[in-house]
Order: sequence, then C-alpha cells, then structure tokens
Amino acid sequence: MKKDHVPSGSDVSAGTFECTKCGNVIKVQSISSLPPCGKCHNGDWKVLTGKGDAEVDPYPKS
Ligand SMILES: [Zn+2]
Repeated sequence: MKKDHVPSGSDVSAGTFECTKCGNVIKVQSISSLPPCGKCHNGDWKVLTGKGDAEVDPYPKS
C-alpha cells in the first residue's frame, strides 16, 4: 500500500514532499515527524518521491 498524501507529524522514509496548498517542495531524510510547511504552515503534503512512489520528478536534481 502506498499513500500519496501524508499529514505533518507523520513518520516518513526519505523522500520529496510538496505542500498541497502553496506548492513548496521539501526533501527530507527518514524522520519520525514531518514538519508543517515552512511557508504557509499547511499540514498536508503530497508525496512526490519515496515510499516506492516512482512518479517522474520534475524537481531539478543536482
Ligand atoms: Zn505551503
């Protein structure tokens, strides 16, 4: 099973998450508590990468 949205406070594996309200994108390592959005304080994240969700990621990688 995979979830494509996670609330802040969730424990997540390393991945990339996009704020569902303002589109802010964060990358995190595996952490026990996903923070709320640093820009708009929204608490709902869309999973872009991680958890086996392998959608093409348009976010530029270095
Ligand atoms: Zn936001």
